[in-house]
Amino acid sequence: MTSLSDLPLRANLVGKQPYGAPQDPVPVSLNVNENTHPIPEAVVADIAESLARAVRGVNRYLDREFTELRSALAEYLGHGLSVDQLWAANGSNEVLQQILQAFGGPGRSLLSFTPTYSMYPLLASGTDTEWIPVPRPEDYALTPQLVVEALREHRPDIAILCGPNNPTGTPLDREVIEAAYGAFDGILIVDEAYQEFDAERESAVALLPGRHRLLVSRTMSKAFAFAGVRLGYLAADPAVVDALRLVRLPYHLSALTQAAATAAMRHSGEMLATVADIRDQRDRLAQALSDLGYDVHPSGANFLLVGGFSDPDGVFESLRARGILIRNLGIPGHLRITAGTEEETTAVIAAIAELTPAV
Ligand SMILES: *Cc1c(COP(=O)(O)O)cnc(C)c1O
Repeated sequence: MTSLSDLPLRANLVGKQPYGAPQDPVPVSLNVNENTHPIPEAVVADIAESLARAVRGVNRYLDREFTELRSALAEYLGHGLSVDQLWAANGSNEVLQQILQAFGGPGRSLLSFTPTYSMYPLLASGTDTEWIPVPRPEDYALTPQLVVEALREHRPDIAILCGPNNPTGTPLDREVIEAAYGAFDGILIVDEAYQEFDAERESAVALLPGRHRLLVSRTMSKAFAFAGVRLGYLAADPAVVDALRLVRLPYHLSALTQAAATAAMRHSGEMLATVADIRDQRDRLAQALSDLGYDVHPSGANFLLVGGFSDPDGVFESLRARGILIRNLGIPGHLRITAGTEEETTAVIAAIAELTPAV
């Protein structure tokens, strides 16, 4: 048997671990920040009809420019965006990869503020881009001053601000984005995977006019309950979209993906109807865990980073044994928990309460 170390792997991939959130069929899965509510049946039926129509055309290559979907996404985001400012790919991970292929690469660098999304360094190594992690302060919140100092010091080619930030939940203030944009002359990505859950803040899409190096990445994987379809998208200057056309594979977005996503966008109101309930469950979970004595970090997303566990590995395993999967990211004393349905939230609160030593 050949092993990985026998292969002439690229040097910057040697010793790296693939993305690996555990996939475990348990009754209560609260580990990858999905929307755990099912899609309404009427929407399922309409998507299925659109898919059936698309299947009849799959003997031909598809619309490479996916104009119908891009126009639906432009309309959904609002702010007067035009179709040529929109782009999409198989998950926002692919959008981010295309951005790194176009603007990163050998001799170039990507900066972000850690802890943050674990895929950023992996996408950097996959594209031979230098990864520059800058630690966040103890409360994880970014300030204009901190961001400006880091960007002036490191002068990266690309910087990513994740807002709300995964895995900490920390919201991202508009002043931080504006300050970051002015502090360097590279590409600034705002990753808004969880934006729909952050009702208190306006999307960075509002900042696009006059900022041609600002890229706002979004996804249907979280609030839209569409993770399995793989549809991420981007709003930016039309010239940025032209740059991504240079690196995308021909026909990269399947006709079936386009059909499903376009149909879902027709029902965006119904698809997002569960967001308010998920926010309520997040706040209920936060209150319950604070009452139990844990440190709950403020979150604008559909998950919470919770500190104060003396044995996070043990709690993770005990919950798993009870059929509840959460996320252990290796942050000392911390675990991350997705806000699910009311029943799922009740189950995770009860299980953690049971495991909490009386004080
Ligand atoms: C989940 C997530 C994504 C979304 O990934 P997809 O490829 O669109 O499923 C992107 N960024 C962050 C920070 C995430 O947590």
